Amino acid sequence: MSQAMHFTGPAGLALSAVVLLLGLAVGSFLNVVIYRLPRDGLSLARPRRSFCPSCRNQIPWHDNIPVLGWLILRGRCRSCRAPISFRYPLVEIVCGALALSILSVEGLGLRFVLYYYFALALTAIAFIDLELMVIPDILVWPTYILGFVCAAAVPTHQTTGIYLWERFLADGWSPWLVSLGGAAAGFVLGFGALWAASKAYRVWRGRDGLGDGDPPLLGLIGAYLGWTAVFPILLISTLIALAAVFAMVFLGKGIPSPKGRRRVGVKGKVGVTPIPFGPFLSLAAVIWMFYGQAVKSWYFSLLGL
Ligand SMILES: [Zn+2]
Repeated sequence: MSQAMHFTGPAGLALSAVVLLLGLAVGSFLNVVIYRLPRDGLSLARPRRSFCPSCRNQIPWHDNIPVLGWLILRGRCRSCRAPISFRYPLVEIVCGALALSILSVEGLGLRFVLYYYFALALTAIAFIDLELMVIPDILVWPTYILGFVCAAAVPTHQTTGIYLWERFLADGWSPWLVSLGGAAAGFVLGFGALWAASKAYRVWRGRDGLGDGDPPLLGLIGAYLGWTAVFPILLISTLIALAAVFAMVFLGKGIPSPKGRRRVGVKGKVGVTPIPFGPFLSLAAVIWMFYGQAVKSWYFSLLGL
């Protein structure tokens, strides 16, 4: 994403308010996706009404109002008083904020829809992976198709600032073809980089260091944001993950280990907590979506390109 737009005046404010409210409502739906998608026996369509995971009572519509419902109930179920996770209002706020931010950069249109869908898929993936350490295929693979549609429909990946790539344009290649090439290269680079890293780790340490879902996720991010985004996003996500690890050690939550492996820690208890990488990749991708262009321009100006 690149150019910024400004929505001012009464019409602009009204549009922003509507988009924010819709975003909050979308967040409410995304909470259903995050809870139901990875759980057996639950589908998005059934049961039709939301229910409390503790007492299974139906939740009345007024308790389901984004953010407000949770605040009024003070984070507890009306029937059984079981605590309702802070994740519910958080996801709603994130979805509202993403809708507003993407609107302010892209305006309303096809680009808004494509980027917002991508951001929602990343949000769902991040929260599911955080809770259950899985990344459902259904969130990843169909989003690939939209990634390539996005590259072709709104050709952005050709403006990489990299000479070789822009030669294609200069030689008369159509922008959407060059952009599609950038998306395909992003997929190969993203998927390949983490796939190779995970193979290497397995050979080196004899166990898994990355989840099966991580290479397809970085491949997806590469397809959407182009091949030049892959390594910066890998770097940013690693830095945020390291910061989280230090925070966990500092807060006494144990030393995180690679996914799926628990070891006995120094104090004789389970001192090693596995952490998923998907949330960090997703967060880094969202950061890059908004600030990547600025960082790229700065970097290329350093190189004198
Ligand atoms: Zn309940």
